[in-house]
Amino acid sequence: MTFAIHGLPVARGIAIGRAVLMAGRVDVVHYFITPDQIETEIARVRAGRDAVVDEIHRLQHTITGMGPKEAPHELSALLDVHLMLLQDQDLIAGVKHWISDRHYNAEWALTTQLEALSRQFDEMEDEYLRERKADLEQVVERILRYMKGVATPAAAPAVARRPGAGRQQDLGLEGTTDVPLVLIAHDLSPADMLQFKQSVFAGFVTDVGGKTSHTAIVARSMDIPAVVGARSASQLVRQDDWVIIDGDAGVMIVDPSPIILAEYQFKQRQAELERGRLGRLRHTPAVTLDGERIELFANIELPEDAAAALEAGAVGVGLFRSEFLFMGRQGHLPDEEEQYQAYRRAVEGMQGLPVTIRTIDVGADKPLDDSRHDDAHLNPALGLRAIRWSLADPAMFLTQLRAILRAAAHGKVKMLITMLAHVGEIRHTLSLIDFARAELDNRGQVYGPISVGAMIEIPAAAIMVRTFLKYFDFLSVGTNDLIQYTLAIDRADESVAHLYDPCHPAVLRLLADTIAACREQGKPVSVCGEMAGDVDFTRLLLGLGLRSFSMHPAQLLAVKQEVLRADTARLAPWSQEVIASDEPAKLLA
Ligand code: PEP
Ligand code: MG
Repeated sequence: MTFAIHGLPVARGIAIGRAVLMAGRVDVVHYFITPDQIETEIARVRAGRDAVVDEIHRLQHTITGMGPKEAPHELSALLDVHLMLLQDQDLIAGVKHWISDRHYNAEWALTTQLEALSRQFDEMEDEYLRERKADLEQVVERILRYMKGVATPAAAPAVARRPGAGRQQDLGLEGTTDVPLVLIAHDLSPADMLQFKQSVFAGFVTDVGGKTSHTAIVARSMDIPAVVGARSASQLVRQDDWVIIDGDAGVMIVDPSPIILAEYQFKQRQAELERGRLGRLRHTPAVTLDGERIELFANIELPEDAAAALEAGAVGVGLFRSEFLFMGRQGHLPDEEEQYQAYRRAVEGMQGLPVTIRTIDVGADKPLDDSRHDDAHLNPALGLRAIRWSLADPAMFLTQLRAILRAAAHGKVKMLITMLAHVGEIRHTLSLIDFARAELDNRGQVYGPISVGAMIEIPAAAIMVRTFLKYFDFLSVGTNDLIQYTLAIDRADESVAHLYDPCHPAVLRLLADTIAACREQGKPVSVCGEMAGDVDFTRLLLGLGLRSFSMHPAQLLAVKQEVLRADTARLAPWSQEVIASDEPAKLLA
């Protein structure tokens, strides 16, 4: 039966594929195997299962030696249930199916089958049987843990061949050798998302998350359709269902009828044509009708993203979110050498164009790793985040500063400091940068010149922008956080997403004043939040005097198209009207 689930549009485009449900187990590796690896993968699962069976037998043996007091009857009954589940034909046959027919690696097959069986347990009338789901989860967890301890064959992230499926014909997809896969999860952290960056998924849907949550931002950078905040999507969709993701409308259609499918296939082709048309603008200079030259920079998360930035025709990197180098490392932070090499790769990758490296911004919805969520802090977005975190751990911060300074010996580097609000923090940060230089001098180590800028993303910073200008070479407005903190709306919380409003007059006035102050003093200013890559705001930002934008490479050509059609002289008075209005959105529509 066809039905639709609504969420928030995050990354544009249409994806049509089979659902892969990720039921909270994103730590499991997912990759396709080649046909000659099928037997090895099945053997890995079998070995894991046998090891767990042995472990349970040993436990049973131990408890039979205990007195009845120490060995409660429930424990032995529980172990019997676990043994029974481990021998269950549905588990074993299902895992074999995912490995042999779908070419999933062993861990992926196991978690996929767990998900399928869990659904069956949920539907059972009998409460006792329903509760066995938890036991099944435990035994699968034990097998996975065993497998983790045993060397896995080298992951093949995107092995070419994917098997066809009968349903493809029903859907008119015959002839396709690859079945696109769409990932559906309750939640994905930004680090999880990053892990999928090189993967095979054609689209993403999550139950939770806001439009400018960092998970959404990484999804957008992958340039594949994504919907977040789709509430119960992971409950309603079944493993392997056919789904359509409409990333423009923020909708997922499950089990589409042939008519709906045909309509979306048409839209998909239109989007591809549009992409092709935009591609022709790559080498066109970004100059407005009245001759204003506009700089379009790229936002990147990893050094390897520099290639996409160049490909899109970016004039440099306006925001390198360095924190992604630090995530998901179970506490082992990258040392100076590793950071230096990463920054250097980004700098060299940009082939002489400038790279703006932002100092680490962890905290809030970007935990260092998932296991380190700190529930004690109820308002992490207002807590020890970004520069506050860096200043609280000067040794860690100095390590990063030295690495950035050293990378500056290889090309044009700008350093961007995030989440500043106090003059004291500014002074402290600048003195640590000097200290890092002095340390490198003492070591006799080579480093390069850098300009230092600040992000304007806390209302306090926007209000005292003229003070900031005394200390910094340039400013960059982080509209994602500026909106979050001005309106007191958690950007990662879908339940307040309708109140997260870039067009709020307070936000627009802070933004306009920041741009105006920089222009008055002749200092460079850019916007690197998601507003910069949203074509709905390009004309307004140009009218307010902005000449430098930084966005994901995938958004760059669409923004350039807007720039080419704009006349800043005519937009300026209109923009003043917009920011003076009580309801700017009406004028922007
Ligand atoms: C912003 O806040 O607008 C920004 C660019 O930084 P981040 O999204 O990483 O918080
Ligand atoms: Mg920010």
